[in-house]
Amino acid sequence: MKPQRSQFRAIRGVRDILPPESALWNRVEQTAHDVFATYNFQEIRLPIFEETELFARSIGADTDVVSKEMYTFEDHALPGLEKDREELMAADIQDPDSLVNFSGDLNVLVHRLKREQADGELDEENENRVEKLAELASRINFDGLIRGLPQTFDDLYNAFWEAKRLVENIDLGKRLTLRPEATASVCRAYIEHGMHTLPGDVKLYYMGPMFRRERPQKGRYRQFYQIGAEVLGQSDSPAIDAEVIEMLMAYLDRLGLSGATLYVNSIGCKECRPAYVAKLREELLKVKDQLGADSQRRIETNPLRVLDSKLEHEQAIIERLPRISDHLCAACREHFAELQAQLKLRSIEYKINWRLVRGLDYYTRTTFEITAPGLGSQNAICGGGRYDGLVELLGGPPTKGIGFAIGTDRLVLALQEAGKGESASHIDVFVAWLGGAESPVYAAAVKLARQLREEGFVVELPPEEMKLKKSLGLADKLGARYALIIGEDEIASGSFVLKRLADSEQRKLSESELLNYLKSDENRKVAAAQRQS
Ligand code: AMP
Repeated sequence: MKPQRSQFRAIRGVRDILPPESALWNRVEQTAHDVFATYNFQEIRLPIFEETELFARSIGADTDVVSKEMYTFEDHALPGLEKDREELMAADIQDPDSLVNFSGDLNVLVHRLKREQADGELDEENENRVEKLAELASRINFDGLIRGLPQTFDDLYNAFWEAKRLVENIDLGKRLTLRPEATASVCRAYIEHGMHTLPGDVKLYYMGPMFRRERPQKGRYRQFYQIGAEVLGQSDSPAIDAEVIEMLMAYLDRLGLSGATLYVNSIGCKECRPAYVAKLREELLKVKDQLGADSQRRIETNPLRVLDSKLEHEQAIIERLPRISDHLCAACREHFAELQAQLKLRSIEYKINWRLVRGLDYYTRTTFEITAPGLGSQNAICGGGRYDGLVELLGGPPTKGIGFAIGTDRLVLALQEAGKGESASHIDVFVAWLGGAESPVYAAAVKLARQLREEGFVVELPPEEMKLKKSLGLADKLGARYALIIGEDEIASGSFVLKRLADSEQRKLSESELLNYLKSDENRKVAAAQRQS
């Protein structure tokens, strides 16, 4: 047995978001709800895990995300079924030992599958297979053959191969993956719920955690968060791309983020991109020896991704490569020109980055990215683009799509770097009550605290009686604006002492005066804040 650990820690690459930072996260998320709603986007809440195949097919099997970063697991009531199957598939009929094991292992598998069946984990088609396997298992009785029981080798041989075929085809349940991104899920939901029949474009947004097994560093986590939006529909008008980008910039503006840079590019469509990719590959092969191992591999798997390389010594080589802008078809060129005109119409500043290809396979035409200062090498706070054809690829009707995903962790970091990370958490009133828990003083304190909270004030009510000095000391440490002192005298006279902690000014107020005073003081505070800004 392993020695017991005295402490647990969050695992590598994941973290807790603690107060007061969590208040900033709330502001970031609430602002997204507010701004996106004004563009008529509605929230979609998606599952955290999906079938592995959904991501493999949409993001692309050759991408880093799918090939090495996904958290995938088998979803069985009983663990190890895949392994059982692999062992059975490796059995060799020529090898007596292997055959003896095969018959034993097959019986075990049948037994385990029957348990899955009893739990309702197998679909009907598989249930018939299990019955058939049970029958075959009883026929593959190698011991019986040795002991001369009435069984021919032909019987055994046929049953062996039939069992192997069945075992190979049996559906042991799905492989599931913690979502590494959410666009695939949005498309899956769009298809599953027939949203293409809804009037107009379907405009959705989401927020929540994503999972990628990347090397952790500042701004890069294994559980990270995204806020994203997608437009799905029949039109691929560049006005949609521009409006999506406008919404994004309006959102960052509302949060007070300054210094962000928007980069745009067009990576063509399925008509013009293949010829460009072929040309790129040809040119890359000529300089293959000068490239690093990753880029060399990508010449074959995904040459576009070479353009993404951050390796110092590859930069000069990449600058000399052919550019997609010179290879776009007429329709894509026009789309990109119109996008830029639309951005100008909206007074949105942008830079063209011909190397912006994005790491996921599904993009077509428009791609964009936003970087923010102060984040070091992980400075992309948002990535997005058009993905016409993705819904179709996932089995849905022909549909155009465009969207983006903001890295919430990085956006929060960028806001903190820009000095916009302060959170408004504060205590308005600390109730310093003096009397036993059974006393009318405590009952009055509970009632008053409740009334103040109903008016929207943040109130801290100590659960146990404290000496006045200690109470006021704690109120001060917690940064409360006021201490409300309630003792027996106050109950008797019907007026309370409200002490402003910043300057120790005290005033005696009745219950109604108290509420009015705090409310008017709140108004003065807001007005003062407005005058200052
Ligand atoms: P992507 O889904 O790869 O297009 O990424 C969109 C945005 O998500 C990026 O621009 C980052 O801001 C953020 N992001 C992606 N991966 C991570 C990660 N491992 N940790 C933190 N943020 C990430």
